[in-house]
Amino acid sequence: MADQKWGHCKQCKYFASPARLPLEDEEAPCLHPVLSKYRLTVFGANGCTGWDLRAGAEPPRERPSAPA
Ligand code: SF4
Repeated sequence: MADQKWGHCKQCKYFASPARLPLEDEEAPCLHPVLSKYRLTVFGANGCTGWDLRAGAEPPRERPSAPA
């Protein structure tokens, strides 16, 4: 997937948190249509390229830094 689609779980619509705006230290299952078969539990601070903007969340302002 394209790098520009990377984002944090706390701002992702697949992060199964009941909170409207989840926090970084919150844990919740990932309900991504492809990843859900792995039954992942992720933190708000985690992220991946399957990210999609959560309703009501601000789009990310920073991009992850590239490895040195
Ligand atoms: S692991 Fe990826 S798809 Fe799942 S909630 Fe986090 S950013 Fe979204």
